[in-house]
Amino acid sequence: MSSAPSTPPAQVAIIGAGASGLMTAISIGRALESKSIDPRSKRIVLIDGAKKIGIKILVAGGGRCNVTHHVVDEQQYATTKPPIVRSALKRFSAQDSIEFFEELGVTLKQEETGKLFPITDDAHTVLHALLDEADRLGIQIIRPWRVDRIEQVNDRFVIHSDNDQEPIHAERLVLATGGMALPKSGSDGHGYTIAQSLGHSISPNIFPALVPLVVDPRSDWIRELSGISTNATIHAVSSTGKRFKSFTNDLLCTHFGLSGPGPMDISRYLASAKLSDKGAHLQINWIPDHTFEQIDQQLAQIGKPQIVTHLRSLIPERLARSLCEQVQVDPTTAGHSLMREQRRTLAHLLTQCDIYIQSDRGFTHAEVTAGGVPIEEINRKDFASRCCERLWLVGEILDVDGRIGGFNFQWAWSTGFIAGNAIAKSLTQGD
Ligand SMILES: Cc1cc2nc3c(=O)[nH]c(=O)nc-3n(C[C@H](O)[C@H](O)[C@H](O)COP(=O)(O)OP(=O)(O)OC[C@H]3O[C@@H](n4cnc5c(N)ncnc54)[C@H](O)[C@@H]3O)c2cc1C
Repeated sequence: MSSAPSTPPAQVAIIGAGASGLMTAISIGRALESKSIDPRSKRIVLIDGAKKIGIKILVAGGGRCNVTHHVVDEQQYATTKPPIVRSALKRFSAQDSIEFFEELGVTLKQEETGKLFPITDDAHTVLHALLDEADRLGIQIIRPWRVDRIEQVNDRFVIHSDNDQEPIHAERLVLATGGMALPKSGSDGHGYTIAQSLGHSISPNIFPALVPLVVDPRSDWIRELSGISTNATIHAVSSTGKRFKSFTNDLLCTHFGLSGPGPMDISRYLASAKLSDKGAHLQINWIPDHTFEQIDQQLAQIGKPQIVTHLRSLIPERLARSLCEQVQVDPTTAGHSLMREQRRTLAHLLTQCDIYIQSDRGFTHAEVTAGGVPIEEINRKDFASRCCERLWLVGEILDVDGRIGGFNFQWAWSTGFIAGNAIAKSLTQGD
């Protein structure tokens, strides 16, 4: 049993000062201000175990922070409940994010891919703007203060650190502890244990998403192409050959296998399938928008020029030579000398190239987590817990993960905004 606190209890304690926690805190403060209530009159604390706040914001988008995407809808997310995701993204949309950051002095620019970045091309701009706004609103950031466990005593949450610091008492609690991706940032999955101690469950499988892939020995030849980057369509395919997910995007061959947006986007779908179908694998069309038949016909019409001369107009030359090698075709062969069977095998490899994956590169190299607290355990209206009163959950701790492109931050902004506004309402109503 905990002793009485020497400091007054916080009205709201938010565990995790990443994107979703900061957004929750700021949204509470701003909603109070809009009702002419000074947020400084409430004790709102953000608690974070990390020495440095906002590491993920700083490393995101290669240090430029891909804040959101110009088109955000639930189809860009893996989730068991698309309507909940849809409604959250509608209530705080990508356009709302653009306006929110503009108000904070961060102008976003849209790139050709649809991704939005700060015009400074520097993630520090985003983090500083969030921290400045939290500071203006009187949000107290307590760090490094790693939460070990939480007790519920007389309608209060008693938050215990992992190093015997005096517990923090709070009337309302938000779990914004993220998932397990990039554990050195402080998001190492302990939030799941805390959520479970408060009555939540955790999805049966938690695994890295948006993660580079390690090829198995059957596809070792890919490693020799390390450094090659090309646009390709990647399909996730079952052991019976059924395609169940596809992405067309850039792909990078590396010394271990595959990286880049295409492979990373498909990684969680393959991993999920492999849980029950060990034969699930990838199939790559190296020439997107071209079918086997079209390529076969093109190869048949090359005539006198060498095959590699034709192929290098479509794909990087090193890749073209390697694919020819895989089917024992000399790339310098004149097009008209190619035997029908060789031609068809080559066209097959160019458009339906099976790639076998041994593993992924793990949470250390993942951008996000697949799995988490089931979204069914959250009240869709306000992101309050359905398992524990006066508890809210936001961001990556929930079992929702988006593809590359700013979708995961958008999820953090949307859920933080919704929960923050609901909490402000409960503060003004004295709930
Ligand atoms: C390398 C990389 C690049 C990325 N790039 C992008 C991008 O460009 N665009 C995009 O949309 N998404 C990107 N993401 C994903 C995005 O960063 C996350 O989805 C997002 O940060 C999740 O926000 P969050 O607040 O829910 O969790 P987090 O950002 O993980 O924050 C959780 C916080 O909780 C704290 N915490 C955890 N446990 C405890 C505890 N027990 N006690 C106290 N504090 C605790 C952690 O220290 C951390 O600060 C990237 C991720 C990575 C790893």
